[in-house]
Amino acid sequence: MTKYIFVTGGVVSSLGKGISASSIGKLLQARGLSIAMLKCDPYINVDPGTMNPFQHGEVFVTEDGAEADLDLGHYERFLDKEMHQVNNFTAGRVYQTVIERERRGDFLGTTVQVIPHVTDEIKNRFRAAAKGADVAIVEIGGTVGDIESLPFVEAARQMGLEAGRDNVLYLHVTLIPYIRASEELKTKPTQHSVQKLREIGISPDVLVCRTEKPLGPEMRAKLSMFCSVPKESVIEAPDVESIYEVPTVFHKQGLDDQILMLLRLRAQAQDLDGWARIVQRLKNPRREVVVALAGKYADYKDAYKSVNEALVHGGIANEAKVHIRFLETSDPRIHEQLEDVHGILVPGGFGDRGIEGKIRVAQLARERKIPYFGLCLGLQTAVIEFARDVLKLAGAHSTEFDPKSRYPVIDLLPEQKSVKDLGATMRLGVYDCTIKKGSLAHKAYGTLQISERHRHRWEVNNKFRKLLEDAGLCVSGVHAPKNLVEIVELRDHPWFLATQFHPEFKSRPEAPHPLFRDFVAAAVERAEALRKSHVHA
Ligand code: GLN
Repeated sequence: MTKYIFVTGGVVSSLGKGISASSIGKLLQARGLSIAMLKCDPYINVDPGTMNPFQHGEVFVTEDGAEADLDLGHYERFLDKEMHQVNNFTAGRVYQTVIERERRGDFLGTTVQVIPHVTDEIKNRFRAAAKGADVAIVEIGGTVGDIESLPFVEAARQMGLEAGRDNVLYLHVTLIPYIRASEELKTKPTQHSVQKLREIGISPDVLVCRTEKPLGPEMRAKLSMFCSVPKESVIEAPDVESIYEVPTVFHKQGLDDQILMLLRLRAQAQDLDGWARIVQRLKNPRREVVVALAGKYADYKDAYKSVNEALVHGGIANEAKVHIRFLETSDPRIHEQLEDVHGILVPGGFGDRGIEGKIRVAQLARERKIPYFGLCLGLQTAVIEFARDVLKLAGAHSTEFDPKSRYPVIDLLPEQKSVKDLGATMRLGVYDCTIKKGSLAHKAYGTLQISERHRHRWEVNNKFRKLLEDAGLCVSGVHAPKNLVEIVELRDHPWFLATQFHPEFKSRPEAPHPLFRDFVAAAVERAEALRKSHVHA
């Protein structure tokens, strides 16, 4: 029978509940248990695909094309396991299902209510995601006490009743603020948020306490007594240099043993050796590189979560620390910003803000032979730049930004032109790609058949393909069934490669993505070359 761990959050949002849930998943997986992960989001959007990254961070894309919460990215990276549509749902999706069923007549004669109809639907979805796993870890988004998250917390409470208390564990991630003036850690906000949980009928079994200072035995005793949690179940979650250290931090405090004991589970001895080696490599780099990221959400680090992590993984593969520097693409003196960078990455994006700057960045990377890695929009800008500057097609553009362009080198396929509803209608999820022999892509992947995840509407316009190729743009990857351009590269350049897909979603610390690995390797080479030229100068 599947055991459940419900992860709730208290006091404030952004406590790293997703990292805690992922780390616990990792710990239990490393004891030989099979783990299912699930994220519930209490907002009304049916999925986060229609939200701006400022609202909700990056939209993560799964193999089966779900536009999902970014926590699924953490789950995949920590557990080295694919997530799917069933592993994330929102209040909007739950209500949509319940209302569709009501219209169909499934509930004829009854008043349809939050309890039991909405909570039943939520529990069905818990069970669907948990199917076959030894332990299902269910992370409930939002903060306890929010009106929105109530039905989810209520459904979690009912699960305790139905599955039996030995089979369900409630873990509350909370904040212990440090008051500088009095040099004290404070437990009161946590007491209040635990009271909030109790009002709904849940008494947490484990407290994970986010804190900037060590808790100390007195604090632990106090939290234990006021929140009615055994001392061994008060876990400290200090700020750490890398998120990948968290599983070890939890393990050292016996969290996995505590969970196994509470859930009456037997498991093998902990095997975190491989993981610990990765963290060691990550924390002891032999060199450093600077990668310029030409995105538009400079101040919001969650907007490019998977890209950032994939760069970290590429760094692990090269024993290099990758410093990410945001490029202000609207700056007319952008070339000055590029003087000391070792690689340029243009990530995915929508909308025309900063687009000319990105096109300029692709040109500078091409001309100055700076390693360039374009992801989705970053491929489109590289193609536009090439068309304008090498093919001399003045005004070449994507019809996303200039619908009347004379040279629409990036355009919609006919099926996308007729799209009316914008939710979940992009080209989403995995598509096969055939790679050209001898290309940079071939060198990276070591194979000619790959599949990668997509999230976009526009494509390279095949009408211009021959022109582009004849002028030296190498199309090194295509989706053969529809003859769509998937990867482009430049010859006579140390490393210039762009993909229509999003490789960042498949990168893991234990298996860095080959393109990120090779891009960082190219950046390392440039850093070396620059260093040598300085020494000789
Ligand atoms: N806006 C572009 C498109 O829809 C690129 C999307 C992306 O970068 N994910 O094709």
